[in-house]
Amino acid sequence: MSNNTYVGRHRPATKPTRGRQFLVPLALVSSTVAGGLVVRDAGASPLSAEAAAMKNVSNSVAGLGLVADVDAIAAASADRGNLRASRDGVRAEAALGLAASSAAEAGAEAADAALERLAAEKAAAKKAAAEKAAAAKKKAEVERKRRLALAQRWIMPFHGYTLTSGYGWRWGRMHPAQDLAAPTGTPVYALSSGTVLFSGWSNEGYGYMVKIRHWDGTVSWYAHNSRLVVSIGEQVSPGQQVAYSGNTGNSTGPHLHLEIHPAGGAAVPPRSWLAARGIYL
Ligand SMILES: [Zn+2]
Repeated sequence: MSNNTYVGRHRPATKPTRGRQFLVPLALVSSTVAGGLVVRDAGASPLSAEAAAMKNVSNSVAGLGLVADVDAIAAASADRGNLRASRDGVRAEAALGLAASSAAEAGAEAADAALERLAAEKAAAKKAAAEKAAAAKKKAEVERKRRLALAQRWIMPFHGYTLTSGYGWRWGRMHPAQDLAAPTGTPVYALSSGTVLFSGWSNEGYGYMVKIRHWDGTVSWYAHNSRLVVSIGEQVSPGQQVAYSGNTGNSTGPHLHLEIHPAGGAAVPPRSWLAARGIYL
């Protein structure tokens, strides 16, 4: 307190007229953030009688005059209450927020895990499908090769025969075939798969004749047959019967006259050509 601090020596002439007023302990005021508290230093300005009176009262308590009206206190109190409530609310919200955040995190982790599982399942399904497709492809390829090997194999065309005239000069002329003597009606088989180029009567001395173009381009001839069992354009498989042997055309006895024309060209010796393919006449 300074020298000019007012030290009350008298009571106010009249009671304060402005509503009810009370003293607010400094502790409450200082801890109050907002509110319409009025704090006045006694020496700062001339005091009204009313203020002076209040100052007097307050000095007797704490040496500082603290005057507040009911509304201000109520407001301060309310604000304080609000503040506390607000703080509590914030704390609660923070707690809730933490809980929510934690729950959200847990949820996000669960969602991530579910997504990862889904992705893993998808990848596994894709892998399984790919493996299945690859296995099917491999199986199809194996089957294709098996069928191809079957289609491209070479077969003994005749059975129960005796080798007679071979490939070469005979009686002053070229015999471009291998003759295989056997009773009329002995089945004649296609050497390998191919297309029937000709099946019918030959006007060149071959009698009933069949010509087949094989898968490698080779054309085989089967002549002097008694009966034909395939038609021109027909696809035949290795060993499929194409005729019954006979003695038709320029022939001196029942036999199969077999010619081999690689690439459809000139005839070659049948025995060596077939031997190179595992068929030994
Ligand atoms: Zn012949």
